[in-house]
Amino acid sequence: MNRAEHTLILEELGLMPLWVRPELLDSPQEVVRHQPARAAAETAPTKPQRDAQAHAPLKPAEPARPLAPAARQRAAAQVNTAPEPIDAVAAAQQTAQAAERLAAIARMDWDQLQAAAASCTACELCKQRNKPVFGTGPREADWLVVGEAPGADEDRQGEPFVGQSGQLLDAMLASVGRTRQSNVYILNTVKCRPPQNRNPTPEEMAQCAPFLHRQLELVRPKVVLALGRFAAQTLLGQSANISGLRGQLHDYRGTPVVVSYHPAYLLRNLPEKAKSWQDLLLAQQATASQQAGGVPASAPLPQSEQGDAPPV
Ligand code: SF4
Repeated sequence: MNRAEHTLILEELGLMPLWVRPELLDSPQEVVRHQPARAAAETAPTKPQRDAQAHAPLKPAEPARPLAPAARQRAAAQVNTAPEPIDAVAAAQQTAQAAERLAAIARMDWDQLQAAAASCTACELCKQRNKPVFGTGPREADWLVVGEAPGADEDRQGEPFVGQSGQLLDAMLASVGRTRQSNVYILNTVKCRPPQNRNPTPEEMAQCAPFLHRQLELVRPKVVLALGRFAAQTLLGQSANISGLRGQLHDYRGTPVVVSYHPAYLLRNLPEKAKSWQDLLLAQQATASQQAGGVPASAPLPQSEQGDAPPV
């Protein structure tokens, strides 16, 4: 291929203009052929310029400058946030196993459920538990009290609400004629104690929730008393704080739910006991309405029922 043909091909490929040392050109006219018409006239270097360009020493490439710390962090973050490859088969297997576990728990009777909780390894909390805290009270109770997570005493004894919080809860229940021995079933949102009494994580609550839901189905209480944020969150699916949820009836699959403060909170905030007393009265009223044939969810406590001073 001669130079003219080579040049034409480069022009077709859009790779022109091409700077060529003049002494390599076949003729002066060829210089013109290598320039686009007007640009050639305006931008073509003069002979001295061309000579200077042709013989100029090559500039050494600049060494790569190290990244500033912030830029390094950004680059690392980009690397770290690269999406993991998805193992679709493993994900589908996990989903199927979770669905099987849910369906199996939903069919269990009391003994099967208790045995399943005792051997459960569905979340990290199984690793450090001493005893799973399943629940206590008559299985046909008309009140069901849901707490948060077992503490050290509960973990040792395998029973919910022992220690100071348990004593206060027992006194509160006694003030409305109830006991865990006669007509209240008590359980926690998670069965195993979180290390150092930390809050249970959403993942741990989700793994343990099927046990709680099945216990609710088996007890079939007239009223549920949810004590503390995690109990309310698990039953109602709401993350609002307690003060925003208490004072009205909520609904859990047709059963009225009263939200109130956890006894451990009341021990640190004694003035709030008056509100807790109001919540107990609301639960009493809901129970009476259930016995009489039903109570609408989200009903506020009538003013006439509200007592100011708790007896405990
Ligand atoms: S907390 Fe609940 S889900 Fe987690 S290991 Fe214990 S029983 Fe299983």
